[in-house]
Amino acid sequence: MKDLSPIKELLASPKEIVITMHASPDADALGSSLGLYHFLKKKGHSVRVIAPTEYPNFLSWMPGHDDVLVFDPKSPEMISEYFSHAELVFCLDFSGLSRVREMEHVLDQSPAKKIIIDHHLNPEDFADFMIWDTKAAATAELIYEMIVETDGRAVVTENIASCLYAGIMTDTGSFKHSNTTPKVHRIVADLIELGANNAHISHAIYDTYSLNRLRFLGYALNELLEVNEEMGVAYFAISSSDAMKYQLKKGDTEGLVNYALSIDGIVAAALFKEVDGEIKISFRSFGDIEVNKFAENYFDGGGHKNAAGGHTFETLKNTVTTFEKLISQNVLKTKLK
Ligand code: 5GP
Ligand code: MN
Repeated sequence: MKDLSPIKELLASPKEIVITMHASPDADALGSSLGLYHFLKKKGHSVRVIAPTEYPNFLSWMPGHDDVLVFDPKSPEMISEYFSHAELVFCLDFSGLSRVREMEHVLDQSPAKKIIIDHHLNPEDFADFMIWDTKAAATAELIYEMIVETDGRAVVTENIASCLYAGIMTDTGSFKHSNTTPKVHRIVADLIELGANNAHISHAIYDTYSLNRLRFLGYALNELLEVNEEMGVAYFAISSSDAMKYQLKKGDTEGLVNYALSIDGIVAAALFKEVDGEIKISFRSFGDIEVNKFAENYFDGGGHKNAAGGHTFETLKNTVTTFEKLISQNVLKTKLK
Protein backbone atom coordinates (compact mmCIF):
# COMPACT_ATOMS: atom_id res chain seq x y z
CA MET A 1 0.00 0.00 0.00
CA LYS A 2 1.18 3.52 -0.77
CA ASP A 3 2.55 5.89 1.85
CA LEU A 4 -0.39 6.91 4.03
CA SER A 5 1.33 9.64 6.02
CA PRO A 6 -0.69 12.44 4.32
CA ILE A 7 -3.90 10.71 5.46
CA LYS A 8 -2.51 10.13 8.94
CA GLU A 9 -1.66 13.80 9.15
CA LEU A 10 -5.12 14.88 7.96
CA LEU A 11 -6.78 12.62 10.52
CA ALA A 12 -4.49 13.60 13.40
CA SER A 13 -6.91 16.32 14.65
CA PRO A 14 -10.74 16.25 14.73
CA LYS A 15 -12.29 17.21 11.39
CA GLU A 16 -15.68 17.72 9.74
CA ILE A 17 -15.87 14.78 7.36
CA VAL A 18 -18.30 13.60 4.68
CA ILE A 19 -18.14 10.06 3.32
CA THR A 20 -19.89 9.42 0.03
CA MET A 21 -20.15 6.60 -2.50
CA HIS A 22 -21.45 5.87 -6.01
CA ALA A 23 -25.17 6.10 -6.87
CA SER A 24 -27.26 2.92 -6.42
CA PRO A 25 -24.90 1.87 -3.65
CA ASP A 26 -24.08 -1.83 -3.37
CA ALA A 27 -22.76 -3.68 -0.32
CA ASP A 28 -19.18 -2.64 -1.09
CA ALA A 29 -20.02 1.05 -1.49
CA LEU A 30 -22.20 1.17 1.64
CA GLY A 31 -20.11 -1.31 3.67
CA SER A 32 -16.87 0.58 2.97
CA SER A 33 -18.55 3.86 3.85
CA LEU A 34 -20.03 2.60 7.11
CA GLY A 35 -16.83 0.73 8.05
CA LEU A 36 -14.87 3.95 7.59
CA TYR A 37 -17.64 5.91 9.38
CA HIS A 38 -17.34 3.84 12.58
CA PHE A 39 -13.54 4.11 12.46
CA LEU A 40 -13.48 7.90 11.98
CA LYS A 41 -16.16 8.53 14.61
CA LYS A 42 -14.17 6.53 17.13
CA LYS A 43 -11.17 8.73 16.35
CA GLY A 44 -13.20 11.78 17.37
CA HIS A 45 -14.18 13.20 13.97
CA SER A 46 -17.59 14.56 13.11
CA VAL A 47 -18.76 12.35 10.25
CA ARG A 48 -21.73 12.23 7.84
CA VAL A 49 -22.34 9.36 5.42
CA ILE A 50 -24.18 10.55 2.32
CA ALA A 51 -25.58 8.24 -0.37
CA PRO A 52 -26.35 9.87 -3.76
CA THR A 53 -29.45 7.66 -4.18
CA GLU A 54 -31.45 5.08 -2.25
CA TYR A 55 -30.07 1.59 -1.81
CA PRO A 56 -31.73 -1.82 -1.41
CA ASN A 57 -33.42 -2.91 1.82
CA PHE A 58 -31.19 -5.95 2.14
CA LEU A 59 -28.39 -3.57 3.17
CA SER A 60 -30.34 -1.96 6.00
CA TRP A 61 -29.01 -4.44 8.60
CA MET A 62 -25.62 -2.70 8.39
CA PRO A 63 -24.62 -1.06 11.66
CA GLY A 64 -24.83 2.72 11.17
CA HIS A 65 -27.38 2.48 8.35
CA ASP A 66 -29.83 4.68 10.33
CA ASP A 67 -27.33 7.54 10.18
CA VAL A 68 -26.99 7.50 6.37
CA LEU A 69 -28.43 10.54 4.60
CA VAL A 70 -29.79 10.05 1.08
CA PHE A 71 -29.42 12.92 -1.41
CA ASP A 72 -32.69 14.23 -2.83
CA PRO A 73 -32.24 16.47 -5.90
CA LYS A 74 -35.58 18.16 -5.09
CA SER A 75 -34.34 19.38 -1.71
CA PRO A 76 -30.54 19.37 -1.80
CA GLU A 77 -30.04 22.17 0.76
CA MET A 78 -29.06 20.23 3.88
CA ILE A 79 -26.70 17.90 2.08
CA SER A 80 -25.16 20.79 0.12
CA GLU A 81 -24.47 22.43 3.49
CA TYR A 82 -22.62 19.36 4.74
CA PHE A 83 -20.50 19.30 1.60
CA SER A 84 -19.73 23.00 1.76
CA HIS A 85 -18.69 22.87 5.42
CA ALA A 86 -16.73 19.63 5.24
CA GLU A 87 -12.96 19.74 5.58
CA LEU A 88 -12.53 16.26 4.11
CA VAL A 89 -14.68 14.26 1.70
CA PHE A 90 -14.01 10.56 1.26
CA CYS A 91 -15.21 9.24 -2.11
CA LEU A 92 -15.56 5.49 -1.85
CA ASP A 93 -15.96 2.82 -4.52
CA PHE A 94 -16.00 5.27 -7.44
CA SER A 95 -13.53 7.55 -9.11
CA GLY A 96 -15.55 9.43 -11.74
CA LEU A 97 -17.64 12.42 -10.61
CA SER A 98 -20.58 11.40 -12.81
CA ARG A 99 -21.01 8.18 -10.76
CA VAL A 100 -22.78 10.25 -8.07
CA ARG A 101 -25.39 11.26 -10.67
CA GLU A 102 -27.43 14.30 -9.65
CA MET A 103 -25.16 14.99 -6.68
CA GLU A 104 -22.20 15.67 -9.00
CA HIS A 105 -22.38 19.45 -8.78
CA VAL A 106 -22.62 19.43 -4.99
CA LEU A 107 -19.59 17.17 -4.68
CA ASP A 108 -17.61 19.06 -7.30
CA GLN A 109 -18.26 22.42 -5.62
CA SER A 110 -17.21 21.25 -2.16
CA PRO A 111 -14.10 23.11 -1.01
CA ALA A 112 -13.06 20.10 1.11
CA LYS A 113 -9.96 18.04 0.43
CA LYS A 114 -11.12 14.95 -1.44
CA ILE A 115 -9.80 11.46 -0.89
CA ILE A 116 -10.69 8.69 -3.33
CA ILE A 117 -10.50 5.09 -2.16
CA ASP A 118 -11.41 2.79 -5.04
CA HIS A 119 -10.66 -0.28 -7.13
CA HIS A 120 -12.27 0.62 -10.48
CA LEU A 121 -10.29 1.16 -13.68
CA ASN A 122 -9.57 4.54 -15.30
CA PRO A 123 -9.99 6.96 -12.39
CA GLU A 124 -10.60 10.64 -13.05
CA ASP A 125 -8.17 12.81 -11.19
CA PHE A 126 -10.49 14.97 -9.10
CA ALA A 127 -9.04 14.14 -5.68
CA ASP A 128 -6.27 15.51 -3.48
CA PHE A 129 -5.26 12.03 -2.38
CA MET A 130 -6.01 8.61 -3.79
CA ILE A 131 -5.81 5.07 -2.53
CA TRP A 132 -6.47 3.30 -5.76
CA ASP A 133 -5.75 -0.33 -6.55
CA THR A 134 -7.50 -2.21 -9.34
CA LYS A 135 -6.10 -5.46 -7.97
CA ALA A 136 -8.12 -5.04 -4.79
CA ALA A 137 -11.25 -7.20 -4.88
CA ALA A 138 -13.31 -4.56 -3.11
CA THR A 139 -13.03 -1.03 -1.77
CA ALA A 140 -13.68 -2.62 1.64
CA GLU A 141 -10.35 -4.46 1.28
CA LEU A 142 -8.60 -1.08 0.83
CA ILE A 143 -10.42 0.39 3.85
CA TYR A 144 -9.34 -2.60 5.98
CA GLU A 145 -5.73 -2.11 4.90
CA MET A 146 -5.86 1.63 5.50
CA ILE A 147 -7.25 1.21 9.02
CA VAL A 148 -4.78 -1.53 9.92
CA GLU A 149 -1.86 0.45 8.55
CA THR A 150 -2.78 3.75 10.19
CA ASP A 151 -4.09 2.57 13.59
CA GLY A 152 -3.55 -1.19 13.86
CA ARG A 153 -6.05 -4.06 13.71
CA ALA A 154 -7.02 -3.69 17.38
CA VAL A 155 -9.19 -0.67 16.50
CA VAL A 156 -11.36 -2.75 14.17
CA THR A 157 -14.64 -3.23 16.05
CA GLU A 158 -17.33 -5.82 15.33
CA ASN A 159 -19.33 -3.14 13.50
CA ILE A 160 -16.41 -2.16 11.28
CA ALA A 161 -15.58 -5.82 10.60
CA SER A 162 -19.20 -6.62 9.64
CA CYS A 163 -19.52 -3.74 7.19
CA LEU A 164 -16.20 -4.50 5.50
CA TYR A 165 -16.88 -8.24 5.36
CA ALA A 166 -20.14 -7.56 3.49
CA GLY A 167 -18.32 -5.48 0.87
CA ILE A 168 -15.69 -8.11 0.21
CA MET A 169 -18.18 -10.99 0.23
CA THR A 170 -20.41 -9.41 -2.42
CA ASP A 171 -17.69 -7.95 -4.68
CA THR A 172 -16.03 -11.39 -4.89
CA GLY A 173 -19.39 -13.10 -5.60
CA SER A 174 -19.10 -14.89 -2.24
CA PHE A 175 -15.43 -15.69 -2.85
CA LYS A 176 -16.03 -17.25 -6.26
CA HIS A 177 -14.68 -14.67 -8.75
CA SER A 178 -11.10 -14.50 -9.99
CA ASN A 179 -10.49 -11.45 -7.78
CA THR A 180 -10.64 -13.77 -4.72
CA THR A 181 -6.93 -13.79 -3.89
CA PRO A 182 -5.17 -15.47 -0.97
CA LYS A 183 -4.99 -11.97 0.53
CA VAL A 184 -8.80 -11.69 0.37
CA HIS A 185 -9.12 -14.93 2.31
CA ARG A 186 -6.59 -13.71 4.90
CA ILE A 187 -8.44 -10.43 5.31
CA VAL A 188 -11.88 -12.01 5.69
CA ALA A 189 -10.45 -14.56 8.12
CA ASP A 190 -9.22 -11.62 10.19
CA LEU A 191 -12.57 -9.83 9.88
CA ILE A 192 -14.35 -12.95 11.17
CA GLU A 193 -11.89 -13.09 14.09
CA LEU A 194 -12.63 -9.41 14.74
CA GLY A 195 -16.35 -10.16 15.07
CA ALA A 196 -17.96 -10.29 11.61
CA ASN A 197 -20.64 -12.98 11.71
CA ASN A 198 -20.22 -14.45 8.23
CA ALA A 199 -23.30 -16.69 8.33
CA HIS A 200 -25.57 -13.86 9.51
CA ILE A 201 -24.20 -11.42 6.94
CA SER A 202 -24.65 -13.89 4.11
CA HIS A 203 -28.20 -14.61 5.27
CA ALA A 204 -29.07 -10.91 5.59
CA ILE A 205 -27.90 -10.20 2.03
CA TYR A 206 -28.83 -13.32 0.10
CA ASP A 207 -31.63 -15.04 1.98
CA THR A 208 -34.12 -12.28 2.70
CA TYR A 209 -35.93 -12.18 -0.67
CA SER A 210 -39.54 -11.13 -0.85
CA LEU A 211 -41.89 -13.73 -2.35
CA ASN A 212 -42.44 -11.34 -5.29
CA ARG A 213 -38.74 -11.27 -6.00
CA LEU A 214 -38.54 -15.06 -6.09
CA ARG A 215 -41.62 -15.32 -8.31
CA PHE A 216 -40.07 -12.73 -10.61
CA LEU A 217 -36.89 -14.82 -10.81
CA GLY A 218 -39.00 -17.74 -12.05
CA TYR A 219 -40.69 -15.51 -14.63
CA ALA A 220 -37.38 -14.02 -15.80
CA LEU A 221 -35.76 -17.44 -16.23
CA ASN A 222 -38.80 -18.87 -18.05
CA GLU A 223 -39.92 -15.94 -20.16
CA LEU A 224 -37.25 -13.27 -20.44
CA LEU A 225 -33.94 -15.08 -20.79
CA GLU A 226 -32.54 -14.90 -24.33
CA VAL A 227 -29.67 -17.18 -25.25
CA ASN A 228 -27.35 -16.84 -28.22
CA GLU A 229 -25.50 -20.14 -28.01
CA GLU A 230 -23.45 -19.52 -31.11
CA MET A 231 -21.91 -16.36 -29.68
CA GLY A 232 -21.85 -17.61 -26.08
CA VAL A 233 -24.02 -14.73 -24.88
CA ALA A 234 -27.22 -14.66 -22.80
CA TYR A 235 -29.26 -11.73 -21.50
CA PHE A 236 -32.42 -10.50 -19.82
CA ALA A 237 -34.42 -7.43 -20.84
CA ILE A 238 -36.82 -6.22 -18.14
CA SER A 239 -39.48 -3.68 -19.06
CA SER A 240 -41.04 -1.28 -16.59
CA SER A 241 -44.34 -3.14 -16.96
CA ASP A 242 -42.60 -6.39 -15.84
CA ALA A 243 -41.18 -4.48 -12.89
CA MET A 244 -44.62 -3.09 -12.05
CA LYS A 245 -46.36 -6.44 -12.37
CA TYR A 246 -44.00 -8.04 -9.85
CA GLN A 247 -43.76 -4.87 -7.72
CA LEU A 248 -39.99 -4.98 -8.00
CA LYS A 249 -38.10 -2.94 -5.42
CA LYS A 250 -34.62 -1.49 -5.66
CA GLY A 251 -32.13 -4.36 -5.60
CA ASP A 252 -34.65 -7.03 -6.62
CA THR A 253 -32.83 -7.73 -9.91
CA GLU A 254 -29.38 -7.76 -8.33
CA GLY A 255 -27.59 -11.02 -9.07
CA LEU A 256 -30.05 -11.99 -11.82
CA VAL A 257 -27.46 -11.45 -14.56
CA ASN A 258 -25.32 -14.20 -13.00
CA TYR A 259 -27.96 -16.81 -13.88
CA ALA A 260 -27.40 -15.99 -17.55
CA LEU A 261 -23.67 -16.47 -17.08
CA SER A 262 -24.18 -19.78 -15.29
CA ILE A 263 -25.24 -21.60 -18.48
CA ASP A 264 -22.64 -23.98 -19.89
CA GLY A 265 -20.95 -22.38 -22.90
CA ILE A 266 -22.09 -18.84 -22.05
CA VAL A 267 -19.15 -16.51 -21.51
CA ALA A 268 -20.84 -13.11 -21.43
CA ALA A 269 -24.16 -11.98 -19.98
CA ALA A 270 -26.19 -8.81 -19.83
CA LEU A 271 -29.21 -7.43 -18.03
CA PHE A 272 -31.19 -4.49 -19.44
CA LYS A 273 -33.69 -2.83 -17.16
CA GLU A 274 -36.06 0.00 -17.93
CA VAL A 275 -36.21 2.47 -15.03
CA ASP A 276 -37.84 5.92 -15.32
CA GLY A 277 -37.22 6.30 -19.05
CA GLU A 278 -33.64 5.09 -18.80
CA ILE A 279 -32.16 1.67 -19.57
CA LYS A 280 -29.77 0.50 -16.88
CA ILE A 281 -27.38 -2.21 -17.99
CA SER A 282 -25.27 -4.78 -16.17
CA PHE A 283 -22.62 -6.85 -17.92
CA ARG A 284 -20.80 -9.90 -16.63
CA SER A 285 -18.20 -12.09 -18.32
CA PHE A 286 -15.85 -14.94 -17.75
CA GLY A 287 -12.08 -15.07 -18.32
CA ASP A 288 -10.49 -12.61 -20.75
CA ILE A 289 -13.67 -11.04 -22.11
CA GLU A 290 -13.52 -7.36 -21.17
CA VAL A 291 -17.02 -6.07 -20.54
CA ASN A 292 -15.74 -2.83 -19.00
CA LYS A 293 -14.32 -1.66 -22.35
CA PHE A 294 -17.48 -2.76 -24.13
CA ALA A 295 -19.61 -0.81 -21.62
CA GLU A 296 -17.37 2.22 -21.97
CA ASN A 297 -17.30 2.21 -25.77
CA TYR A 298 -20.97 1.54 -26.49
CA PHE A 299 -23.08 2.10 -23.37
CA ASP A 300 -21.65 5.15 -21.57
CA GLY A 301 -20.41 3.04 -18.68
CA GLY A 302 -17.43 1.16 -17.30
CA GLY A 303 -16.45 -1.03 -14.36
CA HIS A 304 -14.24 -4.08 -14.04
CA LYS A 305 -13.05 -6.59 -16.65
CA ASN A 306 -15.68 -9.18 -15.71
CA ALA A 307 -18.37 -6.96 -14.13
CA ALA A 308 -19.40 -3.65 -15.63
CA GLY A 309 -22.41 -1.48 -16.22
CA GLY A 310 -23.74 1.32 -18.35
CA HIS A 311 -26.95 3.00 -19.50
CA THR A 312 -28.83 4.39 -22.49
CA PHE A 313 -31.76 6.73 -23.02
CA GLU A 314 -32.99 4.68 -25.99
CA THR A 315 -36.02 2.40 -25.77
CA LEU A 316 -35.50 -1.05 -24.28
CA LYS A 317 -36.11 -2.57 -27.71
CA ASN A 318 -33.57 -0.36 -29.48
CA THR A 319 -30.97 -0.91 -26.77
CA VAL A 320 -31.33 -4.68 -27.11
CA THR A 321 -31.18 -4.43 -30.92
CA THR A 322 -27.92 -2.45 -30.69
CA PHE A 323 -26.53 -5.02 -28.26
CA GLU A 324 -27.51 -7.96 -30.46
CA LYS A 325 -25.90 -6.28 -33.47
CA LEU A 326 -22.64 -5.73 -31.60
CA ILE A 327 -22.68 -9.33 -30.41
CA SER A 328 -23.29 -10.71 -33.90
CA GLN A 329 -20.32 -8.62 -35.11
CA ASN A 330 -18.27 -10.24 -32.35
CA VAL A 331 -17.35 -6.85 -30.90
CA LEU A 332 -17.22 -8.39 -27.44
CA LYS A 333 -14.84 -11.09 -28.76
CA THR A 334 -16.84 -13.91 -27.24
CA LYS A 335 -15.91 -16.10 -30.19
CA LEU A 336 -12.47 -16.56 -31.70
CA LYS A 337 -13.20 -16.31 -35.39
P1 5GP B 1 -23.68 -3.61 -11.51
O1 5GP B 1 -23.94 -4.41 -12.73
O2 5GP B 1 -23.55 -4.48 -10.31
O3 5GP B 1 -24.57 -2.43 -11.35
O4 5GP B 1 -22.23 -2.97 -11.74
C1 5GP B 1 -21.11 -3.77 -12.00
C2 5GP B 1 -19.87 -2.94 -11.99
O5 5GP B 1 -19.90 -1.96 -13.02
C3 5GP B 1 -19.67 -2.18 -10.68
O6 5GP B 1 -18.30 -2.23 -10.37
C4 5GP B 1 -20.08 -0.78 -11.02
O7 5GP B 1 -19.38 0.12 -10.26
C5 5GP B 1 -19.77 -0.66 -12.50
N1 5GP B 1 -20.77 0.19 -13.15
C6 5GP B 1 -22.09 0.00 -13.18
N2 5GP B 1 -22.72 0.99 -13.87
C7 5GP B 1 -21.75 1.83 -14.29
C8 5GP B 1 -21.75 3.06 -15.02
O8 5GP B 1 -22.80 3.57 -15.46
N3 5GP B 1 -20.53 3.65 -15.23
C9 5GP B 1 -19.36 3.09 -14.79
N4 5GP B 1 -18.20 3.72 -15.05
N5 5GP B 1 -19.33 1.94 -14.09
C10 5GP B 1 -20.49 1.31 -13.83
MN1 MN C 1 -16.63 -2.24 -5.24
